[in-house]
This record gives sequence, structure tokens and C-alpha cells, in this order.
Amino acid sequence: MHNRSASADRNSRNPRNRVGGKNSFDRAPQRQRPARTPAPSLDRELDNMPVRAVPTVNSFEELGLSAKLCDELARAGIKKPFPIQSATLPDALSGRDVLGRAQTGSGKTLAFGLALLSRLDGGKAKPKYPRAIVLVPTRELAMQVSDALTPLARSLGLWCRTVVGGMSFAKQADALRRGVDLLIATPGRLSDHVRQGTCVLDEVAFTALDEADQMADMGFMPQVRAILDLTPVGQRMLFSATLDGDVEQLVRRYLHEPVTHSVQSAKASVTTMDHHVLLVSKEDKPAVIAEMAAREGRTIMFLRTKHHVDRLTAKLRSIGVNAGALHGGKTQGARNRVLGDFKEGSLPVLVATDVAARGIHVDGISLVVHVDPPADAKGYLHRAGRTARAGESGTVVTIVTHQERRTVARMTEQAGVRPTSTTVRPGGEDLVRITGARIPTGEPIVEQEQTKRPPRGGGHRNSGGGYRGQGGRNNNRDRFNPRRARSDRSRER
Ligand code: AMP
Repeated sequence: MHNRSASADRNSRNPRNRVGGKNSFDRAPQRQRPARTPAPSLDRELDNMPVRAVPTVNSFEELGLSAKLCDELARAGIKKPFPIQSATLPDALSGRDVLGRAQTGSGKTLAFGLALLSRLDGGKAKPKYPRAIVLVPTRELAMQVSDALTPLARSLGLWCRTVVGGMSFAKQADALRRGVDLLIATPGRLSDHVRQGTCVLDEVAFTALDEADQMADMGFMPQVRAILDLTPVGQRMLFSATLDGDVEQLVRRYLHEPVTHSVQSAKASVTTMDHHVLLVSKEDKPAVIAEMAAREGRTIMFLRTKHHVDRLTAKLRSIGVNAGALHGGKTQGARNRVLGDFKEGSLPVLVATDVAARGIHVDGISLVVHVDPPADAKGYLHRAGRTARAGESGTVVTIVTHQERRTVARMTEQAGVRPTSTTVRPGGEDLVRITGARIPTGEPIVEQEQTKRPPRGGGHRNSGGGYRGQGGRNNNRDRFNPRRARSDRSRER
């Protein structure tokens, strides 16, 4: 185990670590201490590091995992470690801090999860005092990590629980009272529990931060720092797709001589994707979107606002495309249901805001569509990263109207991709070749959720460009009037 006495002293001298959790979050977050000497960015350091060959490891037994964990992994069909697991597990099991530049899909959940569970094996949690925490940016990612780790924890007789917003606080407090070995949490809800005294962090010996850059982008850094300040200096692991800005400061302040491992930078993964810019007229855009959505295969479509997501979903369903909406305005139950159906295959099309752009791992998404262009190059890469996962290939298309051409060209250049530009029309050969587009049936999907809350703007009369599907039988004439869309967007931002 590494000698961390210096940083341990530093932390125990910090009065915030002695208050036992309560009220600590009420203080204004402390400003981060700037690094003493200007250092090259971590991202650049990793880019310039010679590539270390990861030793070939053929089984988890070779890495020193317990027979119980290996059996449980085998039951889930997981037999051979992924490179990030072979590279980080030996060091993580020996107690070192770990810094991983890796995205969802690389196998990082098991990289840190197996290390945490092995280190927790044999111990027992006191009521309210979790022994390990995993911080994640979103509820969806929390569920995903929990799905992966709970059966493994159970095989060792350990309790793994989740605390996230949008779910019953009282139930979570109850679970914490019964003792939790591994707590998977979003920073906001964990802060609430600490503030209420339903969770105390004094016995957290192991911490993992997953998708740290997304937590930074979502404004969680004050809570993340406050949580880390309250945990004793134990073993810490941090995984992130990028390691600049706030994440870099977090690494420099809270990780102690970490072993670093880089699977690939966000840019590198885009090479297994086909990138296309589809030039469309405003009039054709709705029909092009509808035909693309009616393709065979798992498709994810990104839009900027919740309202546009709801409206497109309702529209697609009305013409026979089985689409589901995912955005932050939905209840957690609805979000879980839609994501579950999409993962399991009964829902082929997911229409989402950027809430689904990161962290979510769904196998076999073969097409990502930027219906609205993303906010910036980073957004492009994150959305695109939903396809071409785990060595698969995939197609990413950006639907671009004349006015959007320049902005999108600048953005793709910044993102380091060179999309092929093609002008497409509804029913056109190129559209079919690139996306597998088909004519929707026109038979509305039987509504469940949508009937409860009709989309705003539905039923507006508007001429021209509406898409009514093959049969043209449905009389939903609402279409995505660009003029109205623009004013909606500015209202909702
Ligand atoms: P993650 O990057 O942790 O989200 O993992 C992506 C996917 O890879 C998940 O579906 C995991 O179950 C799967 N996975 C992780 N490690 C392995 C492995 N060693 N062998 C096979 N599948 C794996």
C-alpha cells in the first residue's frame, strides 16, 4: 500500500473533515487551490506518454480476483478482462490510486468495481456509514453501475445500494440505516443525505469517481469536492473521458501518485464511425427525419430541448415509428422504462436531449442522428460516442439546413472528424444508402404515455412539408415549423 501519511495529515487537519458530515455542505464551497507550478495539462501528458503495452491476461483469476467474483463474472458471460481491467486491476487491488482516461464502453465500471468489491470483501458496514462510494453524474449511470455491480457484491455478501435524485429519500435513508458497503450516488442526493445526517462519510475507505468530466460540466464540482473533503484519505479512483479544467484540479488535489491508464481519447474513438452531414431543405427535414427513424436497427436521435424531444416522439409515434422520449423533465420511472425498453430492444428509436449523450451504454446503436446540431464539438463527440462501441462500427449523421452549414462545418473540424456531405431528399437513394431509411407505415403506435400528456403545439395547422407516412391516414398535421421551433428554443433555453 502506498504511503500517504502527508496527505492524510493534510486532510485530518482540515476542519471540514472533523465535523462528521452534518452542516458541512451549508458552507460556501472553497475555492480550489491553484497548482503550485504550472504543469502541462493532464490530457497532454497522457497523449505524450509512450504507449505501454498492456500484458495479455486471459482470465480474471490471473489478476488475483476471488473465486466467488470470477464465478459470478463467468455467469454473466464475462471471462476475459478488457485492456483497461488488465491494466488497472493489479494496481487498484494493491491499494494504489488510479486515474483512467476512458469512456463508457471501455469496461471501466468493472475496472473500478471489481477493485472496490475485492477491497471491501470480508468487512461489514455500520449503519449510516458506507465503506465505499461511487460518484456518478446521472441517475441513469447510477442504475447502470448498480446493475453491473450488485450481483457481484451479492456474491461476496456485501450490500450495494444507490442514492440518486428523483427517488424516495426515505427509502434511501432506510437502506443506509441498515448498512451499505458500496454506495453508488449522484453528488446532489448524497450531499442531501450527508446534510440530513442519514449518511456519514467518516468510514469511506474507497472512492471512485465515474465520468468526472460530465460531473464538472453539470456543475457538480462543489458537491464532489465537499464529499471528498469529508471522506478520509483512502484509495481513490477517477475515470473521465477528458482530464482538463476542473477534472485536472480534482486529480491534482485528491489523487495521490495515481497509476494512470488511457484507453483512448474522446477523439480517437470517432475513427470507427462513419460521419455524414446530410444537407436538407427546411421543407424536407421532417420527412427525412421520419424516414430515418423508420429504419431497421437501434437509432438514437438528439435534440436540444425537452419540448422538441416530446414533439418529435409524438410525431414519430403517430406515423408508425416506435419511438420513446428521454429527457430530464420525465419522472425517473419513465426514464428507466424508456431506457430499459431501448436496451432490451422493444423500443428501436430513442429521442433524447443531451441527458443521454454520455455515460449511457447500450449495445448495438447503429445510427446516431443529430437532429438539432450539438452545442459544440465536445457535445458532438459525446453524442456520437453512443455508437461504434466496444469495437463495433456505427454511423453518425448531422442533419443540416442551409443556414446551419458553416457552424456545423466549424464544429466537426474542431471535433477532428471529416464528415461526408450529401444532399438528401425524402425517399432518395442516398438517404437509404447512408441511413437505411424506410417509409413509415403511417399506422399510429398505440399510445400509453403520450395520451396522458399531449405534446404542446400538437394540432397546430400548418401547411407544407408535413409528414404523414405511407398511408397518409393520420390527421396529425403538426409539423416542425422552423419559425415556431426557433422561438420555442429561445424560450426553453
Ligand atoms: P462499461 O465501459 O463499464 O460501461 O462497460 C461496457 C460494456 O462492456 C458493459 O456491457 C459490460 O458488461 C461489458 N464488459 C465489461 N468488461 C467486460 C469483459 N471483460 N468482457 C466482456 N464484456 C465486458
